[in-house]
Amino acid sequence: MPVCVHLWLQLFQRKLRIQLVREGRLADRFAESKTAMPIKKTPAKGSPPIYDLAVLGGGSAGYAAARTAAAAGLKTVVIEGGKEIGGCCILHGCMPSKALLYTAEVLHLARSAKTWGLKIPKAGFDFKAVMARKKAVVVDFAKDRTQSLTAGKFDFLRAHASFVDPHTVALNHVIGTAPKTVKSRYFVISTGSTVSPAAAPGLAEAGFLTSSDVLSLPKLPRSVIVLGGGPVAVELAQFLVRFDVEVTLLQRSDQLLREFDVDAAAEVEKVLRREGIRIYKGATLIEAFRKGRRKGLAFRQGGRTRRVAAEEILFALGRVAATEGLDLQKAGVETEHGRIVTNAEMQTSAPHIYAAGDCTGPHQIVHIAVEQGEIAAHNIAQPSAKRSIDYRLLSSIVFTDPQAALVGLTEKVARERNIPFRAASHTFDDHGKALIMEAKDGFVKLLADPVSGEILGGACVGPLGGELIHEIITAMHGRMTARELALMPHYHPTLAEIWTYPAATLAGI
Ligand SMILES: Cc1cc2nc3c(=O)[nH]c(=O)nc-3n(C[C@H](O)[C@H](O)[C@H](O)COP(=O)(O)OP(=O)(O)OC[C@H]3O[C@@H](n4cnc5c(N)ncnc54)[C@H](O)[C@@H]3O)c2cc1C
Repeated sequence: MPVCVHLWLQLFQRKLRIQLVREGRLADRFAESKTAMPIKKTPAKGSPPIYDLAVLGGGSAGYAAARTAAAAGLKTVVIEGGKEIGGCCILHGCMPSKALLYTAEVLHLARSAKTWGLKIPKAGFDFKAVMARKKAVVVDFAKDRTQSLTAGKFDFLRAHASFVDPHTVALNHVIGTAPKTVKSRYFVISTGSTVSPAAAPGLAEAGFLTSSDVLSLPKLPRSVIVLGGGPVAVELAQFLVRFDVEVTLLQRSDQLLREFDVDAAAEVEKVLRREGIRIYKGATLIEAFRKGRRKGLAFRQGGRTRRVAAEEILFALGRVAATEGLDLQKAGVETEHGRIVTNAEMQTSAPHIYAAGDCTGPHQIVHIAVEQGEIAAHNIAQPSAKRSIDYRLLSSIVFTDPQAALVGLTEKVARERNIPFRAASHTFDDHGKALIMEAKDGFVKLLADPVSGEILGGACVGPLGGELIHEIITAMHGRMTARELALMPHYHPTLAEIWTYPAATLAGI
């Protein structure tokens, strides 16, 4: 057979395998075969123990998997390779970023005191104290996570794991004591994500900060170029500008926060611009450069080449699955663009290996990572009563001020998928509680089925939008109609009662 035909066949077979795993067909076929548990449970005398389940990575997904498996009676080990214990959310993600954003919001409110007739002569800050308070929050959470991981419900080893064969991992870079290898009947891979590789020529040489760097800055730079327009980029851009840093944001596409509808993203953009952030959308990076002590970027926008420079560049163009170095091919685990491919039961192409969290995605959200970890462990422990992940109630929250939040269907996705819907919105600028709070930016929007009236999605850009969206998550969880929501009692004056207006419009009452 000619080489090119052979290569094409291999590629086709690989794509087919990935498709079958996604649809749950390949894994199920293997799961029924005897290859799923080929090793004996009782090890030979003197050899290391054989676990029921080895969890690789002790972040949010890994801890959830281990806790669930141990509670179901499985002999479980967690292998955590990080220098610090806690995982991304606690150490470099949700907790430190939201601690700093909240501080930035308090500062902003204090500086806006005149709005309410208050006199706060000069609201300033002590950046060292700000960072110390953030660190205290992180340390507290990391301590809790460490206690949970080492409480004795399962074994906990500190080492970097890589597959040697489908049932064995080698342990490298050990902290403390650990065997050279660990054998297990099942695995959950939950190794998280890392910052995407630098996206422009010269960027690595010019130097840049990652989100983790910004979250532990010893001192604020005077100016920063933020590369990216996703949640992490816009959150950190607002944190920096509210702490008096000059911020320029470059975004490849024509819309910030692309998963949101245009109206929601535009509302956040309006506020960021009002606060002084220079925003360039539709920017194609050409190269990064250094000019004296400043760092710069050249980019094309609207047919023009532009150059911007600042003291620092924040690279926030997303994260990729942390699967490098796991030697997944030795275990027969398929990946796509580095991401581990799983079916809805979180099972990979190797039937005894599951994956959860950022290393499989497709959503890098912590409660999804936890749910995936729980589902993976449950399905290993209860193969006759398997559970599947369901993204009907998928939500997203961006912790800017105003916060942007959504759940379920957006207008954009409904149109792309030809899903019939009716939508109604209501703005905060004539809503009682929002007027009391002088929080007039933003709106809420509901999408409902045109026939049954069932709520299919909701979005909120506004004060406490991340909290408010949970009313719609609850409503959708209970499959409520717009009419039921409109008729549900809401206390006055609250932010939450704003939902009754679009609900009433959709219900025609
Ligand atoms: C700046 C920022 C802000 C964020 N804010 C939010 C937010 O507000 N809300 C939200 O829902 N999500 C947020 N996220 C995303 C969220 O933090 C992640 O989705 C979540 O933490 C992923 O959990 P995980 O268990 O998959 O990975 P992690 O928590 O990263 O855990 C993976 C673990 O695996 C370990 N590991 C890696 N390789 C190996 C190996 N070979 N062997 C052994 N151990 C290994 C790592 O050390 C790590 O501890 C944010 C992320 C960032 C970066």
